[in-house]
Amino acid sequence: VRPEAYLQSCAGGEACKIPGIGKRMAEKILEILESGHLRKLDHISESVAVLEVFSNIWGAGVKRAQLWYQQGFRTLDDIRTKAPLTSQQAVGLKHYEDFLERMPREEAAEIEQTVSKAAWSLNPGLVCVACGSYRRGKATCGDVDVLVTHPDGQSHRGIFGKLLDSLRRSGFLTDDLVIQEDSGNQKKYLGVCRLPGPGRRHRRLDIIVAPHAEFACALLYFTGSAYFNCSMRALAKTRGMSLSEHALHTAVVRAPGGRKVGPGLVLPTPTERDVFTLLGLAYREPTERDW
Ligand code: ATP
Ligand code: MN
Repeated sequence: VRPEAYLQSCAGGEACKIPGIGKRMAEKILEILESGHLRKLDHISESVAVLEVFSNIWGAGVKRAQLWYQQGFRTLDDIRTKAPLTSQQAVGLKHYEDFLERMPREEAAEIEQTVSKAAWSLNPGLVCVACGSYRRGKATCGDVDVLVTHPDGQSHRGIFGKLLDSLRRSGFLTDDLVIQEDSGNQKKYLGVCRLPGPGRRHRRLDIIVAPHAEFACALLYFTGSAYFNCSMRALAKTRGMSLSEHALHTAVVRAPGGRKVGPGLVLPTPTERDVFTLLGLAYREPTERDW
């Protein structure tokens, strides 16, 4: 429906005769046309802005934000003084402004180097790679995603805890958010770091330690983008395979009715290229993986 058609029929003081538009909708259209505003939306637009502020607290989702709104909270100060917070949300609130700001990729490189140096002092053979938006070549990064492995397939064991201890002792890690000691064979840390020196901000840092056999799939996963991962996984399904941050599997065998009867076979993938090839895809550089 053309807006001019509304304008003419409404401005003429006639009932709107456009198909599908009832009296109520016509009244709303008229109100917007006459005042440039729809009063009925006033409270909604207020809640939208507040919900946006609240759900930007790390560890708080849309549901938590809605709950706080229903409880009468309207500002971050309300949350700070009146809302019961999980330890993650408390960290998120403490670094609210810092976490909203993306860092220049040069700073992400410094953070990756700090993790690498700490890892090398534990074992010089450890390999650390900054994945995520950094590896995709972005000019700014929301956080730093560092993947750690050892090419001998063994020496990554026991590194996770020691690496975190070392980074804590040096004062680099300032807060912990999630420590997933056991996600299969990978260990995952989500936390907060800050480079030494004046004027530095707190930054979100993820550290993942993976066995070398899982390195290529972990690298692929943590490089993303998330959209790209989704389409790779969907494609794998159509090829009778399944792709995760751990491995590329041949299809899980299911009995009629969906019960799992076999885990499927892990296809060896020494490099990211192997994953592309096994899926029948041309290789894509990390900088070409935004979609
Ligand atoms: P940013 O600069 O905002 O950090 P990013 O691409 O690095 O962008 P992250 O949120 O740090 O995004 O996630 C790191 C990577 O982990 C993503 O690139 C993506 O590959 C993967 N990832 C995270 N969440 C998901 C998800 N829900 N589904 C698939 N992949 C995900
Ligand atoms: Mn990231």
